[in-house]
Amino acid sequence: MPVERFEGVHLGRTPEEVEEEVERGVLLTTLDRAVGWARKQSMWPATFGLACCAIEMMSSGAGQYDLSRWGMELFRASPRQSDLLIVSGRVSQKMAPPLRRIYDQMPEPRWVIAMGVCASAGGMFTNYAVVQGVDTIVPVDVYVPGCPPKPEMLMFGILKLQEKVRTSEPFR
Ligand code: SF4
Repeated sequence: MPVERFEGVHLGRTPEEVEEEVERGVLLTTLDRAVGWARKQSMWPATFGLACCAIEMMSSGAGQYDLSRWGMELFRASPRQSDLLIVSGRVSQKMAPPLRRIYDQMPEPRWVIAMGVCASAGGMFTNYAVVQGVDTIVPVDVYVPGCPPKPEMLMFGILKLQEKVRTSEPFR
């Protein structure tokens, strides 16, 4: 086969074959998609458990479920190092101001998951002492139903959030 020249390189292929080879081997993307992909793969949740749902959240990070498969094993003890707040459990009226303060201390962009029916809507605690939905305090991105939601349900909610992060505008 005659040696052909393509962009100054002798490859022994026709220009069409080389072009096809380049298209197969080169990953083309946009900055938005690259940033979205990197963000979704490196979310750091805040260490913040409120009630019985927190036990399920903790087991999500343990060996049997292994959140680190999605780059999330680093539960951070400081809100300033976290970009995900998992509100796991009922929120009492007394806890509402600290919860908002933790959210405010997290750097942008930040996301919130309401884990369980109590955090999402008050659950069985329809009384004046419990917040009837954490979305009255902070914006919620994903609601995970159940009482308590199993680790698999939390992980499904996290995957939904990751999809949202991947496809959202990174520079909002
Ligand atoms: S949803 Fe159920 S498990 Fe979770 S905090 Fe409420 S009562 Fe507890």
